[in-house]
Amino acid sequence: MSSWQDLRAERNRRSVLRLNKALPPVFPRAVLSRALARPFIPPTPRLAIESYWAAHPLRADRLARALAARSQPPSRWTWRLGDRRSGLPFTFRTPPAPYREAAHSLGPGFCRVCGQPVYRFGWHIDLWSSGPNKNAVWHSACVVAWQFWNAPSSEIQLLRRLAKSALWSKRRAVVEERRS
Ligand SMILES: [Zn+2]
Repeated sequence: MSSWQDLRAERNRRSVLRLNKALPPVFPRAVLSRALARPFIPPTPRLAIESYWAAHPLRADRLARALAARSQPPSRWTWRLGDRRSGLPFTFRTPPAPYREAAHSLGPGFCRVCGQPVYRFGWHIDLWSSGPNKNAVWHSACVVAWQFWNAPSSEIQLLRRLAKSALWSKRRAVVEERRS
């Protein structure tokens, strides 16, 4: 009988074969090296990218904000609340996302969170010169950012750690200031 390590090795061997077959000549290096180092290697480029952003919610948050800053808000759009039927946010705690509203949606190939074009595999840069991906309406990074903004309780450990380290560096700065 094979052990779970053997099963995992076999599964990973198949995943690498699938991934290599589907991998285009150009692919984000950081995503690929992370994928190949996973205990369970993602078998498709798309899954590799999704798993990369899921592991880096803060990076995804920064990218989503930077992308959104490039998009002008639609004319006559205002940030307002609504109910379940309207599809508008219930609270201003949700960041503004005009392109999620049906009236301002930019259609396939554009991200509903940031309003910028979505490329192959949900990536935010057209590394493949293939133009916007007409089957996509979200960047992989923006999906993770959106989840992060709306359900930060799942990231509570990370937020605690960040708050703690921010606090420590502040304290250190105060101490150093007093010393000098
Ligand atoms: Zn986006």
